[in-house]
Amino acid sequence: MDFTKLKEKLEKKGYAVREFQTAEEATAALKHEIRGETVGIGGSETVNQMKLFEALSPENEVWWHNKKPENRSVEETKRAANAANIYISSVNGISENGELVNIDFSGNRVAATDYGPKKVIFVIGENKVAPTLERAVWRARNVAAPQNARRLKRKTPCAGKADHCYDCQSPERICRILNIFLTKPAGCEYEIILIHEALGF
Ligand code: SF4
Repeated sequence: MDFTKLKEKLEKKGYAVREFQTAEEATAALKHEIRGETVGIGGSETVNQMKLFEALSPENEVWWHNKKPENRSVEETKRAANAANIYISSVNGISENGELVNIDFSGNRVAATDYGPKKVIFVIGENKVAPTLERAVWRARNVAAPQNARRLKRKTPCAGKADHCYDCQSPERICRILNIFLTKPAGCEYEIILIHEALGF
């Protein structure tokens, strides 16, 4: 995929943007640059595939509830992640116009990306790009969320086939918040890292 136009749109909206051919290259760059920081990570299969936790942990204090310390609860780990200087997440969809879409369960991820850290880094594989905001929202709801429900083994109607959203009211429904960045929020530094690979859901 050619990121040229998307990169231009994102830069016009105020984001710093870089692109990498592979996840491995992106991870190596972030490992080289981020040192001596507190880093929080939101629930993200992209981050998992990039092995960012493993890459950043030796030189930073990294908080991620998927790799929580034994002496901390998931909730404590999420709160520590949200208090970090740098927060790393992916998105569930991005439009060709540069709007970012995320769906969340407890809100820790969207809260941290909306406000709090000094810097937010979004790592985004090319599979997340949709032609319009409407299609990016559709993707988040009908592709990313069902696949995440299946990964998390939730008792929801979508988790079996992960084929589309059934707009369930299951107690285990993972889609509770829909967060859209129309443009870069004020008051925080944002960097978007575009990667020429399919990553996450
Ligand atoms: S609303 Fe329910 S059915 Fe739809 S994706 Fe979310 S968990 Fe699955």
